[in-house]
Amino acid sequence: MPEIIGNLHLHTTASDGAGTHDEVASAAARAGLDFIVYTDHNTWVDGVEGWYQDAATGRSILRLMGQEINDQRLDPELNHMLCHFISHDLNGAAADPQRLIDTVNQAGGLCFLAHPLERPGLRAAAETYPWISWDICGYTGIELWNAMTDVKWRLRTLWPRAVAGAYLPQWVLTAPFPEVLAKWDELLATGQKVVAIGGSDAHAMSFSLGPLTRTVYPYEYLFKAVNTHLILSEGLSHDTQQAQQQIYQALSAGHCFIGNSLIPSPRGFEFTAQSGSTGAMMGDTLILQDAVELRATSPQPALLRLIQDGRCVAQQVGTELTWHSRRPGVFRVEAYRQYWGELRGWVFTNPIYVRAA
Ligand SMILES: [Zn+2]
Ligand SMILES: [Zn+2]
Repeated sequence: MPEIIGNLHLHTTASDGAGTHDEVASAAARAGLDFIVYTDHNTWVDGVEGWYQDAATGRSILRLMGQEINDQRLDPELNHMLCHFISHDLNGAAADPQRLIDTVNQAGGLCFLAHPLERPGLRAAAETYPWISWDICGYTGIELWNAMTDVKWRLRTLWPRAVAGAYLPQWVLTAPFPEVLAKWDELLATGQKVVAIGGSDAHAMSFSLGPLTRTVYPYEYLFKAVNTHLILSEGLSHDTQQAQQQIYQALSAGHCFIGNSLIPSPRGFEFTAQSGSTGAMMGDTLILQDAVELRATSPQPALLRLIQDGRCVAQQVGTELTWHSRRPGVFRVEAYRQYWGELRGWVFTNPIYVRAA
């Protein structure tokens, strides 16, 4: 089935990013992405959506407008919400997370809790902006892997971490924090569907150290790292409205996985299930008939781990993992690969929800 890759969390000069809408789109085209969603802080810009042709590469990329909304009167500014597929500014609902979720849903959009748990970084990055208002319902999902949250933690001491990371970007980006994975499993255990996405949260900000100034993690680099891969039922339309609808459907259904393209691209990764004559893919609900066969196939050898209800039930190094179960459960797959001397997160699929008949 057709697979497209996009980035669902990034910032431009419309808020606190360093690149214009066009510069960011060009960087995404160079990185090989198919679509991006602009998510500037509490900011809405009209007239940007649609196909963008990058002159240098000749590639076209679909640009969508969204927002990252939080109550800016709070100190610190907690509870960041990524709002996608909306058509106007929803910042007016920022003060109440549940009202914001309801407003996004009424507007026909999707919303994801951004960087739901964070760890402190260095200096100004020591502030954390987790999600704390968990008494909510109706949201689409969570941002399981936020690249900048990961980078911030990795560079938490000036020497050697920040200096090494500024010059060896390959050294950063590990995996979603275990506490975020545990939180996701905890939410899934309540019986709700919670779609996981990955985002860059790219700002392309510059940092100075003595006489040296360096743009740490430019857009193009981060767009080659943590992205969301969507599985479509047919190729992406050239019509903006139709393409937007296809992306919306795949995301809302959880027909997607998070991939780290640095080691290298996990394009082609699959996670499917079969019970009786019925098949399912990630994001789907499957009614258990006697037994279920779960199957992950990888384009590259990797450590494949099958998680059932938050517990690893099978793992294997290779390009394929098959498992049979007679019990219902929420099944998802994690894949890890060696990169620069360390085991790194590579793929985190959305679950297949196997329910009792
Ligand atoms: Zn944020
Ligand atoms: Zn952000």
